[in-house]
Amino acid sequence: IDLQEISSGAHLRRAARSVRVVYKDKVVVVGGNAPVVIQSMTNTDTADVIATAIQIKELARAGSELVRITVNNPEAAAAVPAIRDQLDLMGVDVPLVGDFHYNGHTLLKDFPDCAKALSKYRINPGNVGQGAKRDTQFAQMIEMACRYDKPVRIGVNWGSLDQALLARIMDENSNRAEPLSAQSVMYQALITSAIESAHRAEELGLAADKIILSCKVSGVQDLIAVYREIGKHCDYPLHLGLTEAGMGSKGIVASTAALSVLLQEGIGDTIRISLTPEPGGDRCREVFVAQEILQTMGLRKFMPMVIACPGCGRTTSTVFQELADNIQSYLREQMPTWKLAYPGVESMNVAVMGCIVNGPGESKHANIGISLPGTGESPAAPVFIDGVKAMTLRGENIAKDFQQIVLDYVHS
Ligand code: SF4
Repeated sequence: IDLQEISSGAHLRRAARSVRVVYKDKVVVVGGNAPVVIQSMTNTDTADVIATAIQIKELARAGSELVRITVNNPEAAAAVPAIRDQLDLMGVDVPLVGDFHYNGHTLLKDFPDCAKALSKYRINPGNVGQGAKRDTQFAQMIEMACRYDKPVRIGVNWGSLDQALLARIMDENSNRAEPLSAQSVMYQALITSAIESAHRAEELGLAADKIILSCKVSGVQDLIAVYREIGKHCDYPLHLGLTEAGMGSKGIVASTAALSVLLQEGIGDTIRISLTPEPGGDRCREVFVAQEILQTMGLRKFMPMVIACPGCGRTTSTVFQELADNIQSYLREQMPTWKLAYPGVESMNVAVMGCIVNGPGESKHANIGISLPGTGESPAAPVFIDGVKAMTLRGENIAKDFQQIVLDYVHS
């Protein structure tokens, strides 16, 4: 048994085609053997060019490898090329994905510069129209993707499922000798909508390696069941995400629970963590959570890991918590620069421990570790570098001094 392979899940990666999402020289590969791609979505008014460009820049700097923007009206469509120009001026080359619902066929046709500036289109087959219009409007969007050589995500969502298709599947189910449960019908409708739409897109001329699928639901067990099933029935890359995951810890926990199970089974080629932002909250949090899921699972590395003990009655001062928080924020701020200047820096481990019980032991296993003085201990903080005690910090400036030690280590 290869424990390394099992722990990384690499032996289980579902076979999927590779889809290239391109902006100029920047190529983000989704699927195949490519690392699982992190993406996010803006929440600015797309028509506000500056606000949207700034948020895209922030998301890209945080580590979002694709950024999706809603293109919901003519003003938004008209703004897309200007947003792309602004990003060029800022030196941001992250590929942009346009999110279309209801009027995408019109917007892509009427705003060719928007259609060209986007690197990928998201089409929701439940929101492209009803009846005969649905087929025509879906075909018009696929025609634009073919014309401009853009990949497409066919993104089905339980909240906006194609009602005609659902009715058809319910009818078929009622004629079965042993009808499926309502839940199974829902799963079948989601999966059928995605796969039939993808096949239709191929019939319309879109290459199979231009198609990514998603089937988003808001329940953890539902998501796992749906993706396990769709993964068996196609080789399109899969975009994973728990839709409407919610706020705060609930959203993070639910997304992590669902995605971890699937990723461990090798299912999922790109992920988005859909967190409802706290008022005034940082949109980049969804990117950090996505990175932490992939990194803690051993699937990718983005930034040095901070190992910190939870603290207990032996840590009655706040110095320990402040130092752990301080060094985590510092590393996150430095990474966009460090990862260019110091390849491999993301593999570094930093331990911040609250007392001598586990402090020295854990610190020795990290590249750099510090064991702060617990209650009743000598007011000294031994620092270990590559397993060897290198110095002892004392006094008011422990946090600042430790930050400098980390910086010197990275530079060395
Ligand atoms: Fe408590 Fe010390 Fe363990 Fe941290 S290392 S949890 S402070 S006993």
